[in-house]
Amino acid sequence: MLYQRSSALFKEAQGVIPGGVNSPVRAFNAVGGTPIFAKSAKGAYVYDEDDNRFIDYINSWGPMLLGHAYPPVVEAVIEKARQGTSFGMPTALETEIAELAVAMVPNIDKIRFVNSGTEACMSAIRLARGFTKKDKIIKFAGCYHGHSDSFLIAAGSGAITFGTPNSPGVTGGTAKDTLLAIYNDIENVKSIVEANKGDIAAIIIEPVAGNMGCIPPVEGFLENLRQLCDANDILLIFDEVMTGFRLAKGGVQELKGVDADIVCFGKVVGGGLPVGAFAARNEIMDFLAPNGPVYQAGTLSGNPLAMAAGLAMLKEINADKGLMNRLGEKTKYLHNGIAEALNKNNVIHTINRIGSMISVHFSEEPVVDFESAAKGNNETFKTFFHGMLDQGIYIAPSAFETWFITDALTYEDLNETIAAVEQIAKSL
Ligand SMILES: *Cc1c(COP(=O)(O)O)cnc(C)c1O
Repeated sequence: MLYQRSSALFKEAQGVIPGGVNSPVRAFNAVGGTPIFAKSAKGAYVYDEDDNRFIDYINSWGPMLLGHAYPPVVEAVIEKARQGTSFGMPTALETEIAELAVAMVPNIDKIRFVNSGTEACMSAIRLARGFTKKDKIIKFAGCYHGHSDSFLIAAGSGAITFGTPNSPGVTGGTAKDTLLAIYNDIENVKSIVEANKGDIAAIIIEPVAGNMGCIPPVEGFLENLRQLCDANDILLIFDEVMTGFRLAKGGVQELKGVDADIVCFGKVVGGGLPVGAFAARNEIMDFLAPNGPVYQAGTLSGNPLAMAAGLAMLKEINADKGLMNRLGEKTKYLHNGIAEALNKNNVIHTINRIGSMISVHFSEEPVVDFESAAKGNNETFKTFFHGMLDQGIYIAPSAFETWFITDALTYEDLNETIAAVEQIAKSL
């Protein structure tokens, strides 16, 4: 496969955009080589500037649950654009999508729309701090909640020490209010809560982790977190930016039957336009301005094009009773096919899967947290990634990412993907 035009475009972009990209993972730093420049996409396929066709397993990092350029979404956006693209005034459309979201997701009364998942998570912890009048938060190593300062924190020297900034520009003052816990390890979380008694406003978690590969919670972990929060007046925040409207129409709260106090959304909720949202019961949401003292705002929040895309998307997900089951079946089929292809060639691997999320780790041991995810063989992954790419299969250019299955994928596409795995597995 030739990437001539992508290569030239990347060179040109690097002159005027830092690293040639507007979000770092797109630069292929973890796998090497030239990022491919997208030209268009339709259904399960993305086409690049060299007119190569790829079966897409990134799907804009999650939003395209129903495939690219899904007609009801595209039509909704075009129709709205003709009527004006932004007003800075409330619209009926915002209430309509809010009512639908509140109806689909358990345990929430009100929702506020923002422009990204980062904004949703950032606002959620401000709200939690304002509501509980406490400063510290607990996050889990390997979970991603966007790039706001409070979340760009690495583990300090001991498990119970304060976090340290993992990006220059994040102050030590901010870092000291974020405590790092180990995913799927309730005893570790308990010890952190114990050591910081009375100081913790919230625990924020990806209730199914998707940013260190796909890592489902172990049996009882979310339930135990819920109990721990209740016993200590801590708010439990589910960051469902990736899982919301994907793993069930009501997200992981519905799937696992565990209630969160605040839920964050993004990705699918915007149907491919820049949207995030956070939601909670009335008591908490009424703490937000203008009803309450916690400030949060946005010039383009609730933008009509974004809301039209999101509404069209949610309507489809809500109406299609067989969707989640179909997605789960396709993902399982892919899982079995990949496992068989790798086993046939004696490639050591672990596959994690839940619903329409799946990740392939080149590691023998179970992948249950950041430490075990980091043990995967990155050289093998690089070879695998480029081997798949050259056969027209586009997976995320990093071993720490989930593959996203879309309803647009046919079993023929899945078979083509499995055949590509079988081919590259010979050289792993
Ligand atoms: C993508 C993601 C975010 C950040 O969303 P952006 O729209 O990229 O700011 C936050 N949390 C989770 C779980 C995500 O997957």
